[in-house]
Amino acid sequence: MGLCYSRFEISQMKTPKPIASVSLDLDNKWSYLKTHGSPGWESFPTYLDVVVPRVLSFLEKRKLAITFFVVGQDAALEKNREALAAINRAGHEIGNHSFHHEPWLHLYSEGQIESELARAEEHIERVTEQKPVGFRGPGFSLSHATVKSLVRRGYLYDASTLPTFLGPLARVYYFMTAKLSPQEKRERKALFGHFSEGLRPIKPYRWQIADSGLIEIPVTTMPVFKLPIHVSYLLYLSLLAPALALSYFRTALALCRLTHVQPSLLLHPLDFLDSNDVQDLSFFPAMKLPSEKKLAIVNAVIGLLANEYTLVTLRQHAFEVSQIQNLAFVEPRLLEQRSS
Ligand SMILES: [Zn+2]
Repeated sequence: MGLCYSRFEISQMKTPKPIASVSLDLDNKWSYLKTHGSPGWESFPTYLDVVVPRVLSFLEKRKLAITFFVVGQDAALEKNREALAAINRAGHEIGNHSFHHEPWLHLYSEGQIESELARAEEHIERVTEQKPVGFRGPGFSLSHATVKSLVRRGYLYDASTLPTFLGPLARVYYFMTAKLSPQEKRERKALFGHFSEGLRPIKPYRWQIADSGLIEIPVTTMPVFKLPIHVSYLLYLSLLAPALALSYFRTALALCRLTHVQPSLLLHPLDFLDSNDVQDLSFFPAMKLPSEKKLAIVNAVIGLLANEYTLVTLRQHAFEVSQIQNLAFVEPRLLEQRSS
């Protein structure tokens, strides 16, 4: 009598792999042009019909389900309907990546945030048949008003923080390559975050706001050093020194192990595209890399992560975190929305 387990199952029970999550911010061509102050974004040029099938086939080969953060404006347009519906059919989670994809979302008033979230939810749900329970702000922008609104709207988690000290440097680089008016520069003042973002925790926590259960799953940065480890950054490193990117990621994983951080890895469409797939985005340095080379690096990175962790969606990651007794509470200490 009793249950019989195979040797394989018993070894899995002894050493179950911890979980790690993978997400992709489905930024579209127009949103990059818009942030960069380049003309032509107003007609919402799209590459979703190219990139979505490529990413889905990559994930299918690896039998992975991840989280796609979708921009409401894309869901509102008929031309993107098929690509977005396919993500749902393939069994992935759909999160909310705002409606307008404005990295100055933290300047919105509470009322503006509320309608921004609602409008995105409405179009995302209509096209993908999923009601988002997770949010990621464009350009990692987050405000007190946004957290309050997410709590009010019943979200399970936010994933908008990137605890790094390098944000201001990334912004300087962006301003150097963009042609922006003083007004546009003011709007983008907090793009990629202030230096103080580096002081935020890397491990998940609960926002201390009202009687909120809202979980924060930070985009993982290298423990101790707080340097970015998302795939676009690794691809950028690989331009400087091809061997460097993977050993840098291995170091990050070793530090995650030592500090008991369960990573949440971030992908972007441009990790799968090159300058033959999409023109006008050459201000991103890694667009010079051929897409086959990028895919090989993405594959190696995901492989290293999957060796040590069971890869899940952010919703599953947040659910597991929500079960932790004595999970840390963190005060928002976020940018306040415009008071006028
Ligand atoms: Zn984005």
